[in-house]
Amino acid sequence: MIQFWSHKYQLQEMPADPSDKNPSIHEGALLKVVWPDGRTGYADLFPVKKFGDADIDTQLAALASGKLSPLAEQSIWLAKRDAILRKNKQSAFAGMAKVKNHFLVTDLMTFSDSKMAEIRSAGYSTLKLKVGYDPEEEVKLISRWLKQHPIMLRLDFNSKLKFDDYQVFMLSLKQGERARIEFVEDPFPWNFDGWKEVSGFVPLAIDNEAEKIDWARIKSPVPFKVMVIKPARTDIEKAVAKVHQHALKMVVTSSIDHPVGIAHALHVATELKKFNPYTLLDCGCLTLRVYKPNEFANSIQVTGPYLAGIKGTGIGFDDLLEKTPWVKVQK
Ligand code: MG
Repeated sequence: MIQFWSHKYQLQEMPADPSDKNPSIHEGALLKVVWPDGRTGYADLFPVKKFGDADIDTQLAALASGKLSPLAEQSIWLAKRDAILRKNKQSAFAGMAKVKNHFLVTDLMTFSDSKMAEIRSAGYSTLKLKVGYDPEEEVKLISRWLKQHPIMLRLDFNSKLKFDDYQVFMLSLKQGERARIEFVEDPFPWNFDGWKEVSGFVPLAIDNEAEKIDWARIKSPVPFKVMVIKPARTDIEKAVAKVHQHALKMVVTSSIDHPVGIAHALHVATELKKFNPYTLLDCGCLTLRVYKPNEFANSIQVTGPYLAGIKGTGIGFDDLLEKTPWVKVQK
């Protein structure tokens, strides 16, 4: 029997306003998975409320009774990869292919010009903006930034808009400005015809909306050019097969989760980069600064847009995982 051990944690969001006394807290758990042959691997289990995941206590209770959520299934799959490497005393990051990351901006309104200058000098070429909260203001800011800074943007609406709002948003930008948007992720809920109709503005990327696609019936060509793959949530082999089948590009991103989740995302990204150097675009694994740093985050070395490897075997963090207080997952 496979044995599970967990360690619940909290991640505290770095507030956009430093005087904010009530920063958002996100709960998840590290998992230690022990196979009957003694192999041991680690992964993160990080439910995201806005994606409809059950909270961490419910996830762990389900795991104890042998019912795996898709999220837990994916964690175990990642832990298995880690376990194999640990058994062989190999690091996931030895001789890894370099993967460049975009810079993630979660709060547009507080993002300053000086921050933009800092990011450019650090070597980032792409900024990913979480948008769809205040489209009118966002569009103004985006025009201004594009005028002032030679950068490319990625916009992620997380399906917050309606078809009409998206058209208005895009028509508020000049053609030259739209040309500097590399892609738009999940503009509004997936429907083939709607996405097709707006696919001429800026190339579309599909992330969470991919769950809604009936792949067996989908017409070709598909109205999106990029697939976002989150190793914490997506069956990677299936996703990569779709990328090849439909001649798409791909981006690997973390689930904005614990550094253990980030390490797994990075490992998947570096492997995909090695075998698909032209299909994998800049990725989104560098999400450490969204939260107040913990010991795990502090042991990841970051150089500009690159995550250097993490010391240790498997996905790393050997000492920290060793001293983590684990609780057996049982009924
Ligand atoms: Mg997304």
